[in-house]
Amino acid sequence: MKYVGVDIGGTNLKAGLVDENGNLLATQKMKVASIVDREGLAWTVASLAQELAGAAGVPMGEVASVGVGVPGTVDIRAGSIAYTCNLPLRDVPLRKLFHKYLNIPLYIENDANCAALAEFHVGAGRGSKRFVTVTLGTGVGAGIVHNGKIYHGANGMAGEVGHMVIEQDGLPCPCGRHGCWEQYASATALKRMTAEALAAHPDSGLARVVAENDGHVSGQSAFIAAREGDPVGQAVCDRYVNYLACGVINVVNIFQPDTLAIGGGVSNEAEEQLLLPVQQRVARESIPCGKDRRTRIVKAQLGNRAGLIGAALLGKNKRI
Ligand SMILES: [Zn+2]
Repeated sequence: MKYVGVDIGGTNLKAGLVDENGNLLATQKMKVASIVDREGLAWTVASLAQELAGAAGVPMGEVASVGVGVPGTVDIRAGSIAYTCNLPLRDVPLRKLFHKYLNIPLYIENDANCAALAEFHVGAGRGSKRFVTVTLGTGVGAGIVHNGKIYHGANGMAGEVGHMVIEQDGLPCPCGRHGCWEQYASATALKRMTAEALAAHPDSGLARVVAENDGHVSGQSAFIAAREGDPVGQAVCDRYVNYLACGVINVVNIFQPDTLAIGGGVSNEAEEQLLLPVQQRVARESIPCGKDRRTRIVKAQLGNRAGLIGAALLGKNKRI
């Protein structure tokens, strides 16, 4: 059988058709802004499923289900979207609306959980029994896969590791607290730290790297400058990696997964600049245990396709 996945992002909606092994057979992308209301969303999801099947030459009878990943809170049993942070989607009974257009099962899940599920089945978490992904993007998200199932908590809200405080009375966060991890370890935070260093050191190697990028500060700027030997860029990287490692150690101490995968664009930086220092600090500071029982800290493998593939695989693993 084949499975359709839809990943609703802040800007783009990505859809894909995958086979049993999570291989993408066809993909589509569109602007989320072009969807005007909840009916429009249900109709779009149903239309995309049919278009993808057509593009891949797969009869609709072979499409087992549609899975939808949502950047927010969902009710997986009811198949509805409860709340999204950055989109006007609240209390949307998506499954019910979708079934007006297409009569195949529809599953719904938080997007970070979809990414974790994809990595678990076909990426960095293959073979893991206790698996956690941490994704560094606009915020810091996590997915917890325990014995092959997403851990949802009592109310579906588990895994919000980005909102654990690592700096008491620190920077304000939209969640209402101060000093949340995502204010220090997200890609957004890395860019902010880079911009601050740039303002304080306008003659640095970092400033040259940014100038060569048309004055645009990216999540890569500090890492590039550090690789070129610039102490200002290196200081930004050290600060960022310290905050990242601090939160990863907290997550390891709480869950003691056998594998923890770090994903998001930032995770693509050179291993010796990001993954290695995090691994070293985790080994040094997490609760001691035998060397062979330590959490493996690895890079996620599926990149920005993880959410899409995981959404599709919801249907294959309907017991989650
Ligand atoms: Zn927060």
